[in-house]
Amino acid sequence: MAFERTYRLGDSGPAVAEIRSKLAVVGLLAGEPPAPAATSAPFDADTDRAVRAFQQQRGIAVDGIVGPATYHALDEARWRLGDRILFYVPARLMAGDDVAALQQRLLDMGFDCGRVDGLFGVETEQSLREFQRNVGVRADGTCGPATFKALSQLARTVVGGLPHAMRESEAINRAGPTLSGKLVIVDPGHGGTDPGVLAHRLDEGDLVYDLASRVEGRLTATGSSAFLTRGPDGGARESPSEADRAGFANAAGADLLISLHVEAHPNPLASGVATYYYGNDRYGHYSAVGARFAGLVQREICARTDLVDCRTHPVTGDLLRRTRMPAVRIEVGYLTNPGDAARLADPAFRDVVAEAVVAAVQRLYLPPDQDAQTGFLRIPELRADSRG
Ligand SMILES: [Zn+2]
Repeated sequence: MAFERTYRLGDSGPAVAEIRSKLAVVGLLAGEPPAPAATSAPFDADTDRAVRAFQQQRGIAVDGIVGPATYHALDEARWRLGDRILFYVPARLMAGDDVAALQQRLLDMGFDCGRVDGLFGVETEQSLREFQRNVGVRADGTCGPATFKALSQLARTVVGGLPHAMRESEAINRAGPTLSGKLVIVDPGHGGTDPGVLAHRLDEGDLVYDLASRVEGRLTATGSSAFLTRGPDGGARESPSEADRAGFANAAGADLLISLHVEAHPNPLASGVATYYYGNDRYGHYSAVGARFAGLVQREICARTDLVDCRTHPVTGDLLRRTRMPAVRIEVGYLTNPGDAARLADPAFRDVVAEAVVAAVQRLYLPPDQDAQTGFLRIPELRADSRG
C-alpha cells in the first residue's frame, strides 16, 4: 500500500483526516463523526492520545506516530464479523478484526484454525469448511450470509484460544529433547539497502548478520539444520520484508524462528536486551510456546551477560504474526548506548549471546525434569549428551 510516510503530532492534511476518521470508527476519538469527506484535519493532542491508546491495544510500539504498521492495523480494526464476505485469497490474505472474530469462534467450538491472528489463511479456510460440514452449510470455505447465520445461532461454549495453545505445546513435547533433525530459521534483521540502526560506527544489519552466523554455527554443531533468511550485505539488493521472511520460514516448515535486531533510542542512556513473541491483547490471544521460548532466551542472555533486563513482551509485527511456528525477536541491546555498543563490537560478547540463544533452543525441547539451570548449559556438552 502506498502509505510510506509517517504522521505525528503537529501534522495536518487529508491523510490526517483519514486517520482521525478511522480512530473514530474504532471508538477512540470521542465526539468525532466519521467524516471520510473531510479534506484536511489537524493531528492534535487528542489524535496523539488516541493513536497511543490504539497502539497499546494492538501491541504496536507506543510512539504516537502513524507509520505503515499503525496505519494497516487501523485499517483492519474497522471490520466487524458480518461486514463483508470472507474467503481465502492466497496472494494477499484478507486481514481484519472480523477474521479474528471468526477464528475465535471456530477455536471456541473446537475447530483448529491455528492461531487468532486476524489473517484468513489456509488453516482458517480448512477449519471453516469443517465447521460448515458440521452445521450443514455448503462447505465452500467462504464465510457468507448462510455461515454468519449458523455462527450467530451457536452460543460460545469454551473460553478461546486454549485448543491451539495446547496443540502448540504438544508439538514441542512430541518433537523430543534432541535438536538433531530440527529446522531453525535464524533471521538477521534488515540487510541490503536497509542498514537498520547506525550508531557508534556500527551497522545493525552487519552486526546481526554476524550474530546470526554464530547462532547458525552452534545449531549446526548440535545436529539441527539452520537457515538464514538473507545473505551478508551485498550492496544494492533490497532487504526482504518481514512478510517475505515469515513466508520463507513457513515454506521451509521450520520448527522455530529466531529474529535478531538491536535497538535505538534518542536517549543514549536507554540500554538493555528485550525479547518479543507473538501476542495480541485485543484478540486475547498469544503464542504460549513463543512466550516460553522468549522467557528462556531472555533469562539465558541476562544470566550470561551484564545487559540490562528489559524483559519479554507480546507484540504483533508482521514477522511474528505470520510465522506458523514458535518465533521470537531478540533486541540485543541499544546500539545508541555507548556501553551496549562497546559490548556488541566485541566478537567474544557476540559468542556468549549466540551460546545463550542456542541454550534456550535446547531448553525449550527438554522435558521439565531434564531442564538445565539458567546460564549453565554448554553447547559442546549437549552434543556429547545427545550422542550418548
Ligand atoms: Zn532492527
